[in-house]
Amino acid sequence: MEVLKARYDLLVVGAGVAGCMAARVAAGRGLSVCIVDVKPRERIGEKVCADAIGKHHFDRLGLAYPRGEELKARIKGVRVFSPSKRVSYFVEGNGFIVNRRPFGQRLLRGALDVGAELLDEAKALRPLIKDGFVVGAEVKRKPEGKMEVYAEVTIDASGFLATLRSKMPPEAGFPTKIDRRDYCVGYREVRELEGELDEPDVCHIYLSSALAPGGYAWVFPAGEGKANVGLGVQAVEGHPNPRSLLYERVLSWTLFEGSRVLEAGGWFIPTRRPLENMVWNGFMVAGDAACQANPLHGGGIGQSLLGGSLAAEVASDAVEAGDVSLKALWVYNVRFMQLMGARNAELDVFRIFLQKLTDDEIEYGMSKRLITEEELARVSEGESISLSAFAKISKALRALGRPGFLRRLSRTLKLMRAVRSHYDAYPEEPEGFRAWREEAQRLFEAAREL
Ligand SMILES: Cc1cc2nc3c(=O)[nH]c(=O)nc-3n(C[C@H](O)[C@H](O)[C@H](O)COP(=O)(O)OP(=O)(O)OC[C@H]3O[C@@H](n4cnc5c(N)ncnc54)[C@H](O)[C@@H]3O)c2cc1C
Repeated sequence: MEVLKARYDLLVVGAGVAGCMAARVAAGRGLSVCIVDVKPRERIGEKVCADAIGKHHFDRLGLAYPRGEELKARIKGVRVFSPSKRVSYFVEGNGFIVNRRPFGQRLLRGALDVGAELLDEAKALRPLIKDGFVVGAEVKRKPEGKMEVYAEVTIDASGFLATLRSKMPPEAGFPTKIDRRDYCVGYREVRELEGELDEPDVCHIYLSSALAPGGYAWVFPAGEGKANVGLGVQAVEGHPNPRSLLYERVLSWTLFEGSRVLEAGGWFIPTRRPLENMVWNGFMVAGDAACQANPLHGGGIGQSLLGGSLAAEVASDAVEAGDVSLKALWVYNVRFMQLMGARNAELDVFRIFLQKLTDDEIEYGMSKRLITEEELARVSEGESISLSAFAKISKALRALGRPGFLRRLSRTLKLMRAVRSHYDAYPEEPEGFRAWREEAQRLFEAAREL
């Protein structure tokens, strides 16, 4: 197999957004990098997705904005509808609807151009472990059969199923499975419409347990005369089939009369705070495999790009320093928590609260504007929930409308702040992790009890 050297500095499993970004950063730093993906090269980038990504993600990573065939539409915000659709919130924010395959191909080229090697149509099977370190992965490819790819550091960027993370030994402490309450099952179609979208530069989100229990339905622009329409439901035991719900309850809208399916498919969406720890000796996890997506809306393209980039920076430092131990890789956890994880953990408390609300309560909360659009925009940009939100809820409490609901909301906001402070104090060294994790678990158990 001519692509395989005996040993690489970095092995990246998965050439999605996280993996390509990681490979590009590490190869750009001079590491020898091998990327393994189960897809053939020309299909890399394809992903079941609603394809929306905020402009700020490109700015933060210094990536060129999508254009040409990569760009399906520009967006200027998101409108969130209440269950009755009578109330809506508009959250302003510039972004793009990307065409995932050409966008992914650009990211892949970015990695290959700086020297990374691609082993496509190759399925990673399990991590290779020696003397308490991950030293690579076993990979299967036709016609070669099984082979072993060795590396100083291996990054699992294989998406939700987390091929390597899920097969790590118990002493590494990673979850083999994600709690069913903490992910959604989504289904989406890209459709050519007969008519026009009301707002061709706004993403529409519909909150309603009748449409999408524990999740939401969406209609996003997807280029001229096209829409990406889908829904995600919380993956709890006995959850309804998202495709059936979409056909029964959304595609029956007048907008979709006479529309034609261009693409269809379903997949999983992690909707929880990031894994408490994302490293082990010689091993890192990035993107959906590490649950780095935004827990509130499941957007994970930008977050996975960031995760891949941070992981590769830390892996590069570690390889250069000749120490790829858990202790040396730990700073990846610290940086991700600082830049994204603490915010996501805070939002995760709100997500857990939202998933337990009735449609009636959501309608009430939105119609009273208990949390304002500005507040939502601030929180989604990484700020903590503000004191004015507390003041507003206290005032509403005094007016005695729905005291039970308002008290739960008030307790949720307090817990969000407590979680934020706890994640802001993420341990700088692995030694402090055990105690920190116990407290994190206690806080999230409290969130489930609210
Ligand atoms: C229905 C739906 C709608 C979504 N909408 C949005 C949205 O609008 N905006 C947004 O930001 N995010 C959205 N997301 C989430 C987003 O798609 C993901 O967060 C993001 O793509 C994760 O990137 P990743 O690189 O971690 O994983 P992936 O994109 O899943 O890439 C993983 C790669 O690993 C490869 N792979 C998997 N297993 C193996 C193996 N064993 N061996 C070798 N290779 C392997 C795969 O082929 C793939 O190329 C949506 C997700 C879904 C399901």
